Amino acid sequence: MNDEPVQAVGADEVECEPIYIKCMEKDRTEEFAFEPGEQRFYASKGYPPPKRCAAHRILQRERMAKREEEAKRKESPFHQRNWK
Ligand SMILES: [Zn+2]
Repeated sequence: MNDEPVQAVGADEVECEPIYIKCMEKDRTEEFAFEPGEQRFYASKGYPPPKRCAAHRILQRERMAKREEEAKRKESPFHQRNWK
């Protein structure tokens, strides 16, 4: 990081600003910055803006991964009975 103002010549990127979003964890009392770089990444993937800050997103991803693993382990004939 340096504090020198950068004269961005040839910056053909669309200029945008961080969006401040309230993290849905912690009763939405926590705000986080959705950075322009991330905005572009999400937009390019067609994702909606995140509902959680980066830290909570990682926690959520871990929770989901664990749940998926458990679901895989519990794969049983019982599953197929719900199909009808
Ligand atoms: Zn959070």
